[in-house]
Amino acid sequence: ASRYVPNTSQSSLIVAVRVRPLLKSENGKSGKRDIMRVMDGKVVLVLDPDESKDYLDQVQNRTKEKRYTFDVAFGPTATNLDVYNGTIRDLVVGVLCGINTTVFAYGATGSGKTYTMVGGPGDPGLMILSLERIFSERQRLFGDEDFEVQCSYLEVYNEVIYDLLVRSSGPLELREDPDQGVQVAGLKRISVKSADEILGLLEEGNRRRKTESTDANSQSSRSHAVLEINVRRTPRNHYRVQQLCAKLALVDLAGSERAADTNNVGQKLRDGANINRSLLALANCINALGKQGESPGKGAAYVPYRNSKLTRLLKDGLSGNSRTAMITTVSSSSDQYHHSIGTLKYADRAK
Ligand code: ADP
Ligand code: MG
Repeated sequence: ASRYVPNTSQSSLIVAVRVRPLLKSENGKSGKRDIMRVMDGKVVLVLDPDESKDYLDQVQNRTKEKRYTFDVAFGPTATNLDVYNGTIRDLVVGVLCGINTTVFAYGATGSGKTYTMVGGPGDPGLMILSLERIFSERQRLFGDEDFEVQCSYLEVYNEVIYDLLVRSSGPLELREDPDQGVQVAGLKRISVKSADEILGLLEEGNRRRKTESTDANSQSSRSHAVLEINVRRTPRNHYRVQQLCAKLALVDLAGSERAADTNNVGQKLRDGANINRSLLALANCINALGKQGESPGKGAAYVPYRNSKLTRLLKDGLSGNSRTAMITTVSSSSDQYHHSIGTLKYADRAK
């Protein structure tokens, strides 16, 4: 199996939604009930949070619900492996064939972004599952070739980049290198030989992420965390040695709640404004890319990458013949109704 051709008919943008269950700590608390329903594997219904419990339990007669349709939708019992299999499993094989790929988790604080990307107890997240598959598919398809995997892990906080793999990283600069594309100067890259090697480093890196307490949430994640997995294969060929390089970026975005929702002042307000800048820039880029997909013959639409650090950083993984998956996370809880609607609208716009 020395020749492997990826499925190029795969759509270049996948938009998925994952509804997280009510947590034990939320269940039974007054004012918090389950208002989300997933149907047909792709439709999310958001029930009116003010309706009675009986009404929510009825299957018929729901008229006030809001309805959103995505490429795929996962309900509260889905595991990370289910989400992985239904979204990016096949994209990961494309990375081995030289296709840059970017995966986002987008949603309000507490909706399950980090759970999805990094994982929960006994439920490894998309970062680990992707790495595992990179190594297993490499073994299966290209076992005799030279192969290298390098990882970096960084955060964008307040439009400044910090290394999450080193203790107390200073700010790092973005450089645009004509040959290598966008690079972060001085960012640590580690070579890994198995997915297990990176798990501890991810957990350590996550503890270094900048969190602030705000009025909306006691632990509000205000930074974007980016795991970049660089894969380099050297196919053996009788005539020449040619390297195939690609990167898979997995991004745990900052909480999507608007700055206006949190009663912030000073530094924290600046955080909010900048986070919105990156998220808005990202939405605009994804939106422009989606339009390109609709009319591929019509030449390249203008994609505003330069508007934020995050979009500059991710440019190579969003443009050209790259693939993108957005995994939108929402809580089932009625007290998150407004955040969830905001999140679903954003994702709907990205389609
Ligand atoms: P975010 O990163 O979006 O702020 P987290 O991933 O930290 O949110 O999730 C918030 C809480 O919900 C955590 O306690 C997490 O363990 C839990 N949680 C999130 N998603 C799920 C899920 N699919 N199943 C069970 N618990 C979840
Ligand atoms: Mg988080």
